[in-house]
Amino acid sequence: TPTIGVLALQGDVREHARALERAGARAVGVRRPEELDAVDGLVIPGGESTTMWKLAVAFEMLEPLRKRVAAGLPAYGSCAGMIMLADRIEDGVQGQETVGGIDMTVRRNAFGRQVDSFEAPVTVDGVDGGPFEAVFIRAPWVESVGASARALGHVSQGDRAGRIVAVRQGGLLATSFHPEITGDARIHRLFVDMVKGNA
Ligand code: GLN
Repeated sequence: TPTIGVLALQGDVREHARALERAGARAVGVRRPEELDAVDGLVIPGGESTTMWKLAVAFEMLEPLRKRVAAGLPAYGSCAGMIMLADRIEDGVQGQETVGGIDMTVRRNAFGRQVDSFEAPVTVDGVDGGPFEAVFIRAPWVESVGASARALGHVSQGDRAGRIVAVRQGGLLATSFHPEITGDARIHRLFVDMVKGNA
């Protein structure tokens, strides 16, 4: 059973921990570099990327996160976590930094403000069982992916059809939506398989 950390500076940590346990992993909160050293994979939760970034700096976690992700630690980010894993962001606050790792440009709050939270069907390549009823909350979208990354999931219907909302690059996975709050464990199962080296 792999031990997967959930970055516990801010955001929906508990929901990810539950989803990871349902997907067959042991979930632990990660706030300090020593805790980061002890995990086989890391989830960066949904929340608010500007707050998460400031706390990562305050807790002296930004550099350790960058180092471990660059050294190959598997990581999955949802929503704010997607922003944290992006090499480039648009519409960040002044000076906003990320952990990076995925060769993509992500636009913050692209789908609209808090009131514009919505659900839409999303298809994810290589994930069976039909489209996700994906929940988006002030979500980013992926403007573009570089040569090293692969667009994995798209909105499949409605006026946002075609938008890239899931990306993978090697051991790194990111979604604009929040599978941790809908009880659909397929994304977490995919990530657990990635951590085990099976996917
Ligand atoms: N808008 C948030 C941000 O910029 C992300 C929202 C979310 O994680 N639900 O970080």
